[in-house]
Amino acid sequence: MTLTIVRLYHDLLGTYGDQGNAEILVHRAKARNLDVELIEVTPGMAVPRTGDIYLLGGGEDGPQSAALEMLKTDGGLNYAAAGGATVLAICAGFQIIGETLPDSDGKATSGLGLVDAHTIYDQSPRSVGELVIQPNRGGLPLLTGFENHQGLTRLGKEMPQLGLVRRGIGNGFDHKEGVWHGNVFGSYMHGPALARNPELADAVLQCAVGPMKAFDDQLAQAFAQERRMTLGGMTN
Ligand code: GLN
Repeated sequence: MTLTIVRLYHDLLGTYGDQGNAEILVHRAKARNLDVELIEVTPGMAVPRTGDIYLLGGGEDGPQSAALEMLKTDGGLNYAAAGGATVLAICAGFQIIGETLPDSDGKATSGLGLVDAHTIYDQSPRSVGELVIQPNRGGLPLLTGFENHQGLTRLGKEMPQLGLVRRGIGNGFDHKEGVWHGNVFGSYMHGPALARNPELADAVLQCAVGPMKAFDDQLAQAFAQERRMTLGGMTN
């Protein structure tokens, strides 16, 4: 089997290195002897419907709206997600996969509806800084990232968060951060998140390929651990 990873519009949605999430997945998949293909989707290209993992990053309000409109018109990401494809969406991407979000004029518009999540802009100061979250499943340790967003995202009652906020703002409601619903992950963690959190990278990969053997990537693990320690003396 060839694992197909689809990186969507990274020129529009790739702030703070989010496009690097694709490279991390490729690296960790190859370490398990998987064949991997990375497909780069640029504006105007059709979104492949048979990918295994789809990646969206963060972006400014204008590019975010443009990407959302293209994804709605194309329909490929919704088609693939409905068929069980794995999705990882960061910040603007996380807002895009929800039910509603502000458009570039601040008016509420519909998102792709892959998860029950509603994003609003209110009068709060922009959420900027380091983010530390504690997941409660998948054997995931503390995760760290960098956040920078105006939007705040309320999850529907049935939507499990990715983690609870230990430091930073996250979704902005009930100390929740991100979403992990079926094979769909959303998060406000830039970094790129998967470089900073190799365990999260493996959780995403496993949604697509099933259980994998351990990969002792000492440099990645040391880096993740260093971020946990620096951001609060947390070791697990
Ligand atoms: N434009 C969105 C917001 O400000 C997303 C920002 C981002 O992706 N960094 O909430």
